[in-house]
Amino acid sequence: MHPEPLTGWGRFPPRFARVASPRDEAELRASVAGGGRIARGNGRSYGDSSVGSALSLSMRRMNRMLAFDTESGQLVAEAGVLLGDVIDAFLPRGWFPYVTPGTKFVTLGGIIAADAHGKNHHRDGSFGAFVDWIDLLREDGRVVRLSRDDNTELFDWTLGGMGLTGVILRAAIRLRPVETGWIRQRTLVAPNLDAALSSFEAEQDATYSVAWIDCLAKGPSLGRSLLMLGEHAGLDELPEPFGQAPLKVPSRKKRRVPFDAPSAALNRYSVKLFNALYWRKGVRGAGAQLVDWDSYFYPLDAVLGWNRIYGRKGFMQFQCVLPLESSRAGLTALLTETARAGQGSFLAVLKRLGAARGGMSFPMPGYTLALDFPVNRRTLALLDRLDEIALAHGGRFYLAKDARMTAQTLHHADPRAARLREMRRDAGIDRAFASAQSERLLL
Ligand SMILES: Cc1cc2nc3c(=O)[nH]c(=O)nc-3n(C[C@H](O)[C@H](O)[C@H](O)COP(=O)(O)OP(=O)(O)OC[C@H]3O[C@@H](n4cnc5c(N)ncnc54)[C@H](O)[C@@H]3O)c2cc1C
Repeated sequence: MHPEPLTGWGRFPPRFARVASPRDEAELRASVAGGGRIARGNGRSYGDSSVGSALSLSMRRMNRMLAFDTESGQLVAEAGVLLGDVIDAFLPRGWFPYVTPGTKFVTLGGIIAADAHGKNHHRDGSFGAFVDWIDLLREDGRVVRLSRDDNTELFDWTLGGMGLTGVILRAAIRLRPVETGWIRQRTLVAPNLDAALSSFEAEQDATYSVAWIDCLAKGPSLGRSLLMLGEHAGLDELPEPFGQAPLKVPSRKKRRVPFDAPSAALNRYSVKLFNALYWRKGVRGAGAQLVDWDSYFYPLDAVLGWNRIYGRKGFMQFQCVLPLESSRAGLTALLTETARAGQGSFLAVLKRLGAARGGMSFPMPGYTLALDFPVNRRTLALLDRLDEIALAHGGRFYLAKDARMTAQTLHHADPRAARLREMRRDAGIDRAFASAQSERLLL
């Protein structure tokens, strides 16, 4: 087993690492001994969280769906199954995940370990709210079942624990019944941040909400956004001919980015032009429309390998959440600093999050802002300044998106990080399970 280049979705930081790809539990058990292990799903976290300090355990071959209860919608599946495969298998039968991140190319284990949130966090909470139990492989080869009734503390730390409590083998999750594969989307135009936040607050009853935010807009237009609300469409809401096959949607054409874009292609001018055009298109198309599930939840998945548009050096995402009371001031400061630096981002997303859960789960009631930037010295410096602003407003950071934060920043922002470290030390698993990220962040 030779070291191979291994990164997350952002392709930064570059690392050489060893990877094992066990086919079953016995092979996995043999690979788990030795220390410095971390489970790896589909590598869709941005940074180095799924790069083991000694060995990454790829879970992709352990990907069977094991049982489904048609009464409760409970699915038992192995950790390496892709969310997209779950949807392909169960949407035709009228079931859809309760919570989904913005890509379906993620594994069940990866979603649970990040306790991913979707566009409905303000209403439904994060993925963990729909996990009934988890089978976790420990460092000594034992498998323990975690749930809200058994091994509660470890259950909580495992949701959002970024693989640092052990390897998730399989889990029981719940799916939601849906009548159709269509979403009723309403797009609202918010000319500035105040209007965007007011719209989010006024639309708390919407099942799904997310805003694309023009992070290069300044002055009176600072924070101008397109807020996209969504509801699962009922059978009686589908026009013909869709009503005849309500759970079938036309398949989208997939495009692939064929090569690494030259880094000069992405600069403040191209991003500004993109943002201006996207804004204008959104304003023209505002209002209600019917959208298929794939386009609504996973617009980026239609472009395979889109991480290559940022060039060979890769890109980073900044994602923090700010408490409700300081959101307006904090977001104003973050957007002002981003626009001032001129380091624009195509993908700038604002979401309203709801109640927090325990463990290391990222969400808290307030607003989360996510911004993508190509890797270069100027963005690294900008991200340090954005960290400071988030810290000054009581914010915290999403480990699934982090590739470069310092341990000091994390521990200052999030006292739970020290408790996770303590728990790991007390349980004697801090050496067994370690990623490049956990070493960098002193977890
Ligand atoms: C385009 C895009 C959009 C996204 N949108 C969202 C979003 O809207 N909301 C959101 O919350 N996140 C979002 N994410 C982040 C993504 O949901 C998480 O990073 C997810 O964890 C990635 O899953 P993965 O299977 O690729 O895991 P990996 O990236 O391989 O691993 C992520 C973490 O999970 C751990 N892990 C993986 N498998 C296991 C296992 N079997 N047992 C224990 N630990 C394991 C790893 O050790 C690592 O710490 C997005 C990512 C992308 C690329």
